[in-house]
This record gives sequence, C-alpha cells and structure tokens, in this order.
Amino acid sequence: MGVIMKKRSFILVAVASIAFALSVPITLDTPTTSVTYAKSTKRIAGKTVAKAIKSTPDLNPTSSVRKYPAYIYDKYWKVFDRWYNVQPMSEPGTFNSKHTAKVYVANKALKSYTYTAMQNWNKALKVKAFKLGTKSNHTITVGFKNAGTGEGSWDGYYITSKLFINYNFFDNANYMPAAYKAITGKAMPSADKPNSAEYQSIYDTYWKSVVTHELGHSLGLDHTPYSNDIMEADSGTRSGDAKYTWNSTKVVNDDYAIFEDKLSSRDINRAKLTKVLGYW
Ligand SMILES: [Zn+2]
Repeated sequence: MGVIMKKRSFILVAVASIAFALSVPITLDTPTTSVTYAKSTKRIAGKTVAKAIKSTPDLNPTSSVRKYPAYIYDKYWKVFDRWYNVQPMSEPGTFNSKHTAKVYVANKALKSYTYTAMQNWNKALKVKAFKLGTKSNHTITVGFKNAGTGEGSWDGYYITSKLFINYNFFDNANYMPAAYKAITGKAMPSADKPNSAEYQSIYDTYWKSVVTHELGHSLGLDHTPYSNDIMEADSGTRSGDAKYTWNSTKVVNDDYAIFEDKLSSRDINRAKLTKVLGYW
C-alpha cells in the first residue's frame, strides 16, 4: 500500500487556546497568601495547599489535594492546572449539573469502541460521566475525520465537544503494526495476519484506548509522559497547564496503557481533580 509514516503522532490534542470565561479571581502563580471565604469560619492558608500539592506523586493528585472547599479551587485553579497538567477542554454546557455528557456516535464503526471508552471512565469515577445521546440530543459527537497519514496526522482529536478518529489510520492494515513497533519497540504479534484473532484483539484494544484517551481530554486531562497512563503522549511542552517538558515516554514496567485499554490510578485521580475544579 506504500503508506509512509514519517512520524508517529498518534495522540495530538487540541489544546488550542480555548478562551473560557472562568469565573475566578485573578490568581497568584504560587499560593503564598491566606484566603478567606465569607461562608466559612475556617481559613486555609495558601502555603498549606502548596505543601499538600508538592507532597503528591508526580502529576498524581491523590485524595489529599482533592478534599478542599470549593473556594480553594476557585482561587488556585491555575496552580492545580500547572501541577497536574489539566485544563478545561470542553465547551461550557458539555457536562450538565449532574456531571454527565451525552455522547452521540455518528459512525457505526466507532460505536462499540466508544461504548467501552465511556464505561471505562464511568466505572472508574463511579459517576455517569458519559451517557448515550441521540442525533438530536447530545453534547459530544464522535466521528471520523481525514487527518492524513503523514506528518501532523493523528489518531484521535478532541476539540470543544467533538471527538474525531482519523479513518486513514483506523482503516489501515499497515498502521497497527507500525504503531505497535513505534510504541513498544517490539514487533506486533500476528502483524502480517490482519484477519487473525490476535491482530484483531490488539486492534480493538488500541482503538478503545484512543477513544478513552480522547474522552479523557473532554474531562480536562492533558497529557502525561507515563506509558501506563491512558493520557500518555510521547512529548509535551511546559506551559500554563503543563508542569514540565518531556521528549520521550517514561516507560513504566513495560506497561503500555494504549495496548491494554486500562486507566491508571493517575488517570483516575486527575479526572477526580478536574471534577472538583469544575471542568466537567
Ligand atoms: Zn491526547
């Protein structure tokens, strides 16, 4: 087929500056001042929050930093964004007051992958974050897009309330073996037998993972460098919502979430954090 893949760019997120009117006061880069809240008799010092944040594992907002009253997240959302690589990526209204988005799958071929991905998050978060919508009643759409196969192409993409899968990779027997090799450094089992059960299983798991990853973006999760995270990407740049720059994946226990369709505790903790931050 002569498909040339110059670059594996399979998870590119639209972090194009989406200007949301976050109704928060101007925040400090580092929380050093005390904050007070009219309805609370307690006063939590910014220093206390900063100390708790710094004692969590890398990019992993464990329960110790998810227990604060709402005003702390209103005041320090920038700090949380930067420290845990999160930011709102869905347009306001995508998730309703019950924290649920309605997902409409426009292409039949993507249905089962999307259902699994929705369930992955719902089960892990113990909340119905995603439920099925209809053509006329939905807040997120899932469909195909032609994003080419060369440089700048991608597997999946999420922007404001639309999730796209690149059908040039989805519908391409050469892609899975190439992606497998690029990610794991190993030859894909049954690479030359696209009709075998083994090939099909790897293929299905991979695309379920891609949709799960993209739905993670809808929840406000940006990338991490860890191979065992569904939100892994092979590079990232330090920015207002990224703690540091990385140029290669940190491989953890030879464990690649993308080939396991499995959320890590870091993925789950980050999604729990973005919920308290009000991003979904
Ligand atoms: Zn991504």
